[in-house]
Amino acid sequence: MNNSVTDCIFCKIVKKEIPSNLVYENENCIAFNDIKPASPTHILVIPKKHYKNLWEVEDKDVLGDLLLTAKEVAKKAGLQDGFRTVINTGDNGGQTVYHIHVHVLGGRFHKWPPG
Ligand code: 5GP
Ligand code: ZN
Repeated sequence: MNNSVTDCIFCKIVKKEIPSNLVYENENCIAFNDIKPASPTHILVIPKKHYKNLWEVEDKDVLGDLLLTAKEVAKKAGLQDGFRTVINTGDNGGQTVYHIHVHVLGGRFHKWPPG
């Protein structure tokens, strides 16, 4: 489990210490393709600043930036027919990387409820 900034894989992606397929960047967030896509389009949107997950974020600007960036990314990816946004929180939420991220999934129909 990546709980600290020093061993966080997404912080390393922000610092470009490890490569990623970056699709979008603005002042506060970056977006890159998921290494194991679950849909034809599967992009992860993260704040450049490290927060473990939703439990740790109190700042409305950070949460607003994440969702507005997710929308921008979906628009640029051509997902006008719709897309799924997911934020997994904690072990029961299925979170595996402990740097908050929004999944943007598109390019197919996404059924509800998820597994
Ligand atoms: P979570 O399960 O925490 O909601 O989502 C973590 C996501 O990060 C997974 O979909 C996983 O495939 C993706 N992921 C894990 N390690 C890497 C990596 O090194 N690079 C990229 N691009 N995605 C990763
Ligand atoms: Zn991090």
